[in-house]
Amino acid sequence: MSAWTPWDWKERKAAQQPEWPDLNQLELVEKELSSYSPLVFPAEIEDLKSSLAQATRGQAFLLQAGDCAESFNDHSAKNVRDRLKVILQMAVVLTYSSGVSVIKVGRMAGQYAKPRSAPTESYLGMQLPSFRGHIVHSDEPDPLKRIPDPRRLIMAYQQSLSTINILRSLTTGGFADLSRVHTWNQEFVASSSEGERYDAIATEITRALNFMEACGINLDKEVSLKQVKFWTSHEALLLGYEAALTRLDPKSKQYYDLSGHMVWIGERTRDIDGAHVRFASGISNPIGLKVGPKMTAEELDELCKVLNPENTEGRLTLITRMGAETLRKRLPELVEQIQRSGRKVLWTCDPMHGNTFTSTQGLKTRRFDDVVAEIRAFFDVHREIGTWPGGIHIELTGDDVTECLGGSLEVFESELDTQYNTICDPRLNARQSLDLAYQVAEMLF
Ligand code: PEP
Ligand code: MN
Repeated sequence: MSAWTPWDWKERKAAQQPEWPDLNQLELVEKELSSYSPLVFPAEIEDLKSSLAQATRGQAFLLQAGDCAESFNDHSAKNVRDRLKVILQMAVVLTYSSGVSVIKVGRMAGQYAKPRSAPTESYLGMQLPSFRGHIVHSDEPDPLKRIPDPRRLIMAYQQSLSTINILRSLTTGGFADLSRVHTWNQEFVASSSEGERYDAIATEITRALNFMEACGINLDKEVSLKQVKFWTSHEALLLGYEAALTRLDPKSKQYYDLSGHMVWIGERTRDIDGAHVRFASGISNPIGLKVGPKMTAEELDELCKVLNPENTEGRLTLITRMGAETLRKRLPELVEQIQRSGRKVLWTCDPMHGNTFTSTQGLKTRRFDDVVAEIRAFFDVHREIGTWPGGIHIELTGDDVTECLGGSLEVFESELDTQYNTICDPRLNARQSLDLAYQVAEMLF
């Protein structure tokens, strides 16, 4: 096969691309994007890759979380901060309760494009082109506003840039300092049982920090306590956008997709001969691959070979998403095959996408208990085989939404529409996310 180039995916079939009305305009936008500065840098990507290599060896746990689809509408520093808060809280719970180090990756600063199962969706009896994310068009239920607009690629870049700027400032500028662990508890969380439990852990951490200081350890010098490494990720769906931000690193002579630290291939675009797999095969970023219920052991083995021919640790993360029952049945043969082939992969669990259903009011939702059950099945299968259940992939928000059912402060079906704010899939709210972290910490310990 000829040498890979950032644009040679164009010779393959690219599934799930919008029907752009004006391809010349799209090309102009892509050209413009190619001249923009990178959002992330190769050295950071390599740093994440080495952390993921540790997780691949069973020495760390990946927490990948954020919106199903980030929105252009509610973009603000507060919104970014609240999402970061809940992820930091989950990481504290997981690390403190299990002693395992947690790699924090946001579905953030670029998660704007959505694959869809059907080309149209119905709204109040009207058929509309399906919503494909704010990088493509508006979510408003108006056929004219659903026409794909290439200029939104530029807006997505700018919004990603702004988000990453806020993230960098929050994670290195004092906000994420472990001595501020108490302040990550939001008001509506603090009064709940999950919030109280979190406060108790935060108090113990503060006590431990005070103890260390009293022993003469200068904590101000401990960068790992003062700052947090936080990485960005999104689905590499719109290949023109991704290719325009892919650059050759002059030092290593490797190509990197500098739109985010990690990118993944979705369940609907993982065709081994397709454009998405071709694109991902040539970039040096860590790659995620969604593994749904229809994946066969042979197919997965081939995909691993194509996506990670050198068998590099940290390069490939397999994100299973099947629903609890199916996972229990289907995962063992996949794990056994990958073990037999000696492939180095990080196994993680997306307990969201195999557990979605429509409520009686017609809202897409998920049950908290099903989410927990899929993670439990994932842990059980890996523990039986002797492989490392290396992480979770979660759709969540820092807000007090009512999109997923259940949790200890239960959200009932009749309440779903009170704070149903997602523009795509239902997300766990901050309380449900913390609740989940406690349960996963117990499985990890
Ligand atoms: C997603 O992660 O939002 C998604 C669409 O997942 P999948 O490709 O696994 O369906
Ligand atoms: Mn989703």
